[in-house]
Amino acid sequence: MSHQSAIKLTQSVKSYAQKLGFDLCGVAQVVSPQGVSRLQGWLDKGFAGEMTYLSDRIEAYRDPNLVLNNAKCIVMLTMNYATAQPVVDQPGHGRIARYAWGQADYHDLIKSRLRDLESHFVSESQKELGENSQVRTIVDTAPLLEREFAMLAGLGWFGKNTMLINKHRGSYFFLAAMLTNVELVPDQPFEASHCGTCTACLDACPTDAFPEPGVLDASRCISYLTIEHRSEVPQSLREGIGNWLFGCDICQEVCPWNRKTRTSTEEVFQPQQNHNPVNLPQLFDLPDDAFRKRFRKTPLWRAKRRGLLRNAAIALGNSPGPGWDTALAIGVNDSEPLVRGAAAWALGNIAQHPATELLIARWKIETDDGVIHELNVALKKLESQAEDSHFDSN
Ligand code: SF4
Ligand code: SF4
Repeated sequence: MSHQSAIKLTQSVKSYAQKLGFDLCGVAQVVSPQGVSRLQGWLDKGFAGEMTYLSDRIEAYRDPNLVLNNAKCIVMLTMNYATAQPVVDQPGHGRIARYAWGQADYHDLIKSRLRDLESHFVSESQKELGENSQVRTIVDTAPLLEREFAMLAGLGWFGKNTMLINKHRGSYFFLAAMLTNVELVPDQPFEASHCGTCTACLDACPTDAFPEPGVLDASRCISYLTIEHRSEVPQSLREGIGNWLFGCDICQEVCPWNRKTRTSTEEVFQPQQNHNPVNLPQLFDLPDDAFRKRFRKTPLWRAKRRGLLRNAAIALGNSPGPGWDTALAIGVNDSEPLVRGAAAWALGNIAQHPATELLIARWKIETDDGVIHELNVALKKLESQAEDSHFDSN
């Protein structure tokens, strides 16, 4: 294949990607990514929490040829998802990370654009090279170190918050990739870092999830705890979750490179009604089928009903608003022990009437050991607060 053909195809894929709404597009050569040894070290330290699928696929991360046989290049793409400004602090309301505000799962939109890009590329390379090219497009689902290949494709650097940051686009974007066996013209890898002496993200993290700059202990991160973590949130991290219902954007919100982020006009990324923020008590009132209907087609469904209601109870415990008592009365009697335990914690944390009565009423009939433990801890907390106030008043 001539260099001229490589230039032509590279230009063609980049300009078509732009037409499809991808903001950035760069090309990286296929290599065994250096990040795999970092990933292994990170897994060894237990920073992945319950995300065992990462260690199960470590060999595949090492070799992009396992994603596409005989892959030569990876076209890396970004799609901006920043839309409105977040509503940060409204009692009784929970926050959702911006990427999940929309009315549909972003995977569907990006996959359909990738399919379009793939057809364009296959037909252009057929015209240019006279033979069929092999292509595979991915968003999130294949074992590929997307951030590293995006850096190699010149799209940005790894911030101290571990996000890929672009000087002009910040970090509110999705990454997608197209692997091909065609040799394209690679971009210069992005070797600089523009974090400088800034530590805003490290300082702002409410759960101290950065053991060092550029290293995330996911098992302490609110994004992980509210989305990937299936069981009880450790007691010591619950207050740090604040009013986050799903995900967390704090270490991106404070990043100076996100100050001038452009807003996306994609319809499906616009915040759907009652998602920025979410009225938490209303979630406890929803029957199963209505709950499913509201969230099933959105990224939030990854946490499922039990995960979302666990998160909602914790967020309400940290930020009670009108209707918290009725909502937690339903939550502490939910069919899922995970939800009952979180609601018990929330009642203990709010420590206002009728928390004690609701906890005792449930305690009398509870049979699950984990929930009994949560009820005991909450009741003890309320008891010791009552004793303290008794002494204070004397
Ligand atoms: Fe910390 Fe939130 Fe960033 Fe996770 S997403 S590291 S919890 S600031
Ligand atoms: Fe880098 Fe500062 Fe942004 Fe953190 S907040 S990623 S240190 S520029």
